[in-house]
Amino acid sequence: MVFDQDIMAAAQAVRRGELVGLPTETVYGLGANALDAEAVAKIFELKGRPRFDPLIVHIAEPTQLPSLVTRVPAAASALVERFWPGPLSVVLTKQDRVPDIVTAGLSSVAVRCPAHPVARQLIGAAGVPIAAPSANMFCAVSPTTAEHVAEQFGDRLRYILDGGPCRVGVESTVVSFVGRTPVLLRPGGVTFEEIEAVIGPLEKTEQPAGPAAAPGQLPRHYSPSTPLTLTSGDPPAGPARVGLLTLRRPAEESRFSSIEVLSNRGCLREAASKLFASLRRLDTQQLDLIIARPVPETGLGIAIMDRLRRAANQPEYRDPSS
Ligand code: AMP
Ligand code: MG
Repeated sequence: MVFDQDIMAAAQAVRRGELVGLPTETVYGLGANALDAEAVAKIFELKGRPRFDPLIVHIAEPTQLPSLVTRVPAAASALVERFWPGPLSVVLTKQDRVPDIVTAGLSSVAVRCPAHPVARQLIGAAGVPIAAPSANMFCAVSPTTAEHVAEQFGDRLRYILDGGPCRVGVESTVVSFVGRTPVLLRPGGVTFEEIEAVIGPLEKTEQPAGPAAAPGQLPRHYSPSTPLTLTSGDPPAGPARVGLLTLRRPAEESRFSSIEVLSNRGCLREAASKLFASLRRLDTQQLDLIIARPVPETGLGIAIMDRLRRAANQPEYRDPSS
């Protein structure tokens, strides 16, 4: 529950150059005045995020987009009209007023109008766009409740607005319009199919290998501290405590110390909304290994599999007895 006075206090903090934790429909954000380079620097410091990772700039109304970018091509306009407010970020050539630290020195900026009413009220009351990555330490699992944010940052973050659990639960879809044709940079809350239905064929980027990549594109990201393997195979035999992350309840449960079912009716939208909270719960169970089962790669399943592959990209579990 958020009171108007909490939103006003957080908006004033943003205006003073402080950080706030804010709910959006995708994940919770760690926000600062996007036009204040010093305020934005605090995001990178608190998250431990490398400066080469550009941030998404959030606006209260779709009509504010032209104030941040030099031009809005027709295809970008069509997408924004269809999906804003919502889980879609568009990358366009930035105006000079957007500080370089926001875009990691790139000449383009990612902009999004979120659908969460508290986010929009906060940005509106602050009167400035808000730059915000997910409110977690760099590479860790994204937060989908205000409690997750508080657990992560404690008293290092004075303002956290509680807007309830995130409805979508995975980050926004990022589409770039700076090249000749639109390119999907990150799958997310708006599906590939939904985007192609509006603007036609969409190119997908290959996973970049080097550090020029933006955050959601890093090969390792969204990672729990417990080793995670993405497989439909058997758990290792032996003394290991193994947790399971699965779409539907499995036939054989006894092999697992802990099980998280994302959607027993197989609904990928429901699964996305539960993904990060389920990963976090498994991560607190002192498991030796988390086995994540692949989900069908259609609709939101594409974003879920993208996050699981990156969560799995870490040192492998080795059975100590073998
Ligand atoms: P996050 O803030 O962690 O949700 O991630 C930001 C995402 O936005 C990254 O994964 C990038 O794909 C994307 N992004 C932000 N700014 C830019 C930009 N100027 N050019 C390309 N991608 C960007
Ligand atoms: Mg993030």
